[in-house]
Amino acid sequence: MLPRGVPLLKPNDHRGLMARVDALRADPRVRVGEIGVVKGHPVPVLRLTDPTPGPKLKVLITAGVHGNEPCGPAAALLYVDQLLADPKALAGLDVTVVPAVNPTAYIANTRRVPNTPGPDGEDVDLNRTFGAADAPPEAANMVRYLTGRRYDVALDLHSGSAKKRGFWTLHRGAEDLLVPAMARFAERWPVLRKDTKSYTISHPGVGTSTNRSTLKDFVYAQGTPRTVTLEAPGSLDYMQMVLGENAMVHAIVGELRAQAARGAAVG
Ligand SMILES: [Zn+2]
Repeated sequence: MLPRGVPLLKPNDHRGLMARVDALRADPRVRVGEIGVVKGHPVPVLRLTDPTPGPKLKVLITAGVHGNEPCGPAAALLYVDQLLADPKALAGLDVTVVPAVNPTAYIANTRRVPNTPGPDGEDVDLNRTFGAADAPPEAANMVRYLTGRRYDVALDLHSGSAKKRGFWTLHRGAEDLLVPAMARFAERWPVLRKDTKSYTISHPGVGTSTNRSTLKDFVYAQGTPRTVTLEAPGSLDYMQMVLGENAMVHAIVGELRAQAARGAAVG
């Protein structure tokens, strides 16, 4: 649900996204930092930590790796608004959010990084360059920031084509978390149930891919035991994609909390 009075970020509204981040600087509950500056655009990072004593589950949320998948940045900022609107939502959590990893692609509404040729001479797909040699600055910034950092779970927010009719996840090490989380999510939202090009679906809404040098693979290699790419189906309208992806974040973090409460998951 949308917190009262907070409008959804419009698709590819980078100015609106930065204004939202600037407004959060005034909130003492949010630490606003910068991963770096890419082609003149600061890449902000937000951190919200439950102020009460006790262990915290560390959650990383990244979005906007592909600029033409704007539901991710909106779903990530909506999650921040929800954490601030309800102290119970932040209970036991230490949440880091990078809402726009690839600012120029987000502004241009392109999948690939504009005017940044990759090995094949075409503009590069950023999500094949994390940890790779000659990575563009968008990935190099993230690699520098994430090196040596470890989270209990990392969620990277994306979306798929209009041919996809349901939400799905692609993961490393997170099946125990995702199978119950996506089963609960599927009570209200459509999920992908069959293999589709380049993805193997093991359970409803839960899959793996063979793509390399993705952000989730890099974070996994740094020691985060569960890393997940979240995908919204392009067959839905923008608002449904945002709300559904946001609901997936809640379902996964909720399951992480439930497992930690059972003493099974805190790492
Ligand atoms: Zn994507």
